[in-house]
Amino acid sequence: MPAAALSPEIVSKYEPVIGLEVHVQLLTATKAFCGCANRFGSAPNTNVCPVCLGLPGALPVLNERAVEFATLAALAINCEVRERSIFARKNYFYPDLPKGYQISQYDKPIAEHGWIDVPTADGETKRIGITRLHMEEDAGKSLHDGFSDSATRTYLDLNRCGTPLIEIVSEPDIRTPMEAVEYLTRLKEILLYTAVSDCNMEEGSLRCDANVSVRLKGAPKFGTKAEVKNVNSFRFIRQALEYEIERQIEVIEAGGRVMQETRLWNAAEGRTYSMRSKEQAHDYRYFPEPDLPPLIVSPEFLSTAREKLPELPEARRARMIAEYGVAAKDAQTLTASREFADRFEAAARGARNPRGVANLLLNEVGGRLKALDIEQEQSPVSMAGIVLAADLLDEGKISSKQLKQLFDVCFEKGEDFPAVYEREKPEQITDSSAIEAMIDEVIAANPKQVEQYRAGKKTVAGFFVGQVMRASKGQANPALLNELVAKKLEG
Ligand SMILES: [Zn+2]
Repeated sequence: MPAAALSPEIVSKYEPVIGLEVHVQLLTATKAFCGCANRFGSAPNTNVCPVCLGLPGALPVLNERAVEFATLAALAINCEVRERSIFARKNYFYPDLPKGYQISQYDKPIAEHGWIDVPTADGETKRIGITRLHMEEDAGKSLHDGFSDSATRTYLDLNRCGTPLIEIVSEPDIRTPMEAVEYLTRLKEILLYTAVSDCNMEEGSLRCDANVSVRLKGAPKFGTKAEVKNVNSFRFIRQALEYEIERQIEVIEAGGRVMQETRLWNAAEGRTYSMRSKEQAHDYRYFPEPDLPPLIVSPEFLSTAREKLPELPEARRARMIAEYGVAAKDAQTLTASREFADRFEAAARGARNPRGVANLLLNEVGGRLKALDIEQEQSPVSMAGIVLAADLLDEGKISSKQLKQLFDVCFEKGEDFPAVYEREKPEQITDSSAIEAMIDEVIAANPKQVEQYRAGKKTVAGFFVGQVMRASKGQANPALLNELVAKKLEG
């Protein structure tokens, strides 16, 4: 870090101001303006045609599905969708952009004025504004490494040319690197729920650029910002912002001026590098795309999109807390993906005690999965198995100790719970006289605890239940045992 010399007192005089630009590839079957497959991982230059190669005379035709996805995403982040938006040409030359311009949107984007709420460190919620969401197409890829002559040549893969993107631009409302990560986490979660993108950062389907500046606390104007590009994980975004904030403070403290420029994050070295001084917007010579008419999102199209909008993560968490009585932290885990939340709810609705299902899923099964470092999808215990286990526990047909043993068998043998339970159905002692005999023995052996109980310390009953359960090797019927212990101690 460059800022080893900066004391916390100096750093605390400054306030960072961060805005994020997030590019998201849409999961359409075909590209934005042609019929080529929109697919990651194909052999280079196989998903191309005259339109996405920018050959003379080829004309773009807008993919309606891309508009539907952009509209869904816009609604999910509380944007106002514009009825009439305009595609524009963003002109620049780059080898992986054979047309010489990118079709984008400029002063009339499809959606504006949204927001998402993010949790803050002190348990509050902060609203981060979203300036705009616009549609555009992706460029191809320059391949600089991996070939025998990579030292002297660059190869081009144009498969990505014309892939539909949305760009989501936040207001400069973010004040810390942690807040930036929270914003991105929430945004990604919402987009995954709408299913408009797979948001896979390694494959580049979600990419983030950060605008960052610093100013003295209380200063009325923003400082000069730098744009940090090429950051492909949330961890790196946090590191890049931390680095950049300290770098800028150091420049100012040394009496210099922060330059407006684009900087690249180098993860291996943990620092940003100046790439080029920032082009001004007019350098792109934006003008309306003459080959595409204005995009009209009719009220009917919009209301259809609204109907397709799923319940979003925040609302779903609130409902699950109210409906099933699960803790906030558990609700967070249960809603981590829409698919997981769907499976939990489908199972929990049929269970006697949904909260018990959540508990077994997250703790008993979740703990074992974590210990083995495997994913939920690879769990030997199905949701139906968890529901059966929760019901048996709830009905007092097995003790929690027996349940743990059965789950152990499931994980050892890779078998689901119902099969293991049928085979190893634990013996239960439901004969009251047998249980009473065991209770009598424990009572006789522990006169001090009996005295405590009779003096009013009712919680001691748990001690006797535990002792008898141990004596019965976990086989005493728990409900019956509880009842008989209370009866004996009162008597
Ligand atoms: Zn094409």
